[in-house]
Amino acid sequence: MDYEGFFAKKVAGLKDEGRYRIFAELARQTGRFPIATKHGDGARKDIVVWCSNDYLGMGQNSVVIQAMTDAVQLYGAGAGGTRNISGTSHPLVMLEEEIADLHAKSSALVFTSGYIANEASLGTLAGLLPGCVIFSDAKNHASMIHGIRSSKAEKRIFRHSDVAQLESLLKEVDPDTPKLIAFESVYSMDGDISPIGEICDLADAYGAITYLDEVHAVGLYGPRGGGIAEARGLMDRVTVINGTLAKAYGVMGGYIASTPGIVDAVRSFASSFIFTTALPPGVAAGALASIRHLKSSSTERQRHQERAATLKRRLAEADLPVIDTESHIVPVIVGDPVKCKRVTDMLMAEFGIYIQPINYPTVPRGTERLRITPNPYHTDELMDDLVTALTTIWRRLELPLAA
Ligand code: PLP
Repeated sequence: MDYEGFFAKKVAGLKDEGRYRIFAELARQTGRFPIATKHGDGARKDIVVWCSNDYLGMGQNSVVIQAMTDAVQLYGAGAGGTRNISGTSHPLVMLEEEIADLHAKSSALVFTSGYIANEASLGTLAGLLPGCVIFSDAKNHASMIHGIRSSKAEKRIFRHSDVAQLESLLKEVDPDTPKLIAFESVYSMDGDISPIGEICDLADAYGAITYLDEVHAVGLYGPRGGGIAEARGLMDRVTVINGTLAKAYGVMGGYIASTPGIVDAVRSFASSFIFTTALPPGVAAGALASIRHLKSSSTERQRHQERAATLKRRLAEADLPVIDTESHIVPVIVGDPVKCKRVTDMLMAEFGIYIQPINYPTVPRGTERLRITPNPYHTDELMDDLVTALTTIWRRLELPLAA
């Protein structure tokens, strides 16, 4: 078989559809966020990043950087292996205690990423529960879908945030069957927020446990950054809270916070937790410093919300097709993969603005978009430049304005 030719043809299919992924080669610069240097094409230039998930700029925060630097000096670079073989580093244990406290749970477990946290936890919990049926929101992230698949449990998908349909699906299952409802708080592509309280009510009524992905909310919502569940006073009603240390916390890693029994079961049975090298101590120390900082400081959160609201208003005033989300995420719909890529290429080449095109399968076909994530460091002047650039491109490409 012509293996190379076969794979090239597969990739060519993506190119034909206009959804071949090209990564921008960027060097972020400490202290200049959201400015970065773009490398490649034999040239370097400073550009403005408008699509980072380092939502609060904590990846450049001096407290976080100092904590990481100190920990590397103190403990060295790597973790030295899996936690089972090499021992569990002291900063990692402190990090887990901090996370458990953040979510007012008794236990927490840290993984190498939020993706692995979902894959490992859902796969293990639903896999262990005899005959478990998983109720999964239709818009759940790939990592949750992966975990659900690897659990081999039966799954029922409910329409996105449709509580009535969720209830009718729950009703169909024997009351004594173990059930798990998996959903997110902030959905990262549309920026909407799920009805956590109503879903927990159903879980109580039908004897289910709940698994909530707060990846796009931890650090950003709630008085201490505990996420939407904290902001709504619902943390004690959710069985398992999942989060990332890589977005608002600006570092790397993922976690679950839950009861001791659930956390110990995942720790003891999850292959992708057990058989992989632990997060290095420097990374754990950075994440710990970031969580501690955002527990006591709301300045970043408030400015972040203000910047997102201001940008949404500015884009709407310019008649650009922005979705008026209830969160910090600002989607602007293009509705065509080729044009979406064209817009982002022009933004970069002509205006020095970096926004990644979002295409299928991340979003449904026909809803291709720019996903803009303003952060506390985007000034009014940077917003002026962005709105001017988008308005110019929209006119030139004759893209539809807001209806
Ligand atoms: N869950 C959701 C909803 C996500 O959007 C992502 C990543 O974008 C993840 C989990 C994975 O988190 P991480 O980037 O820490 O692997």
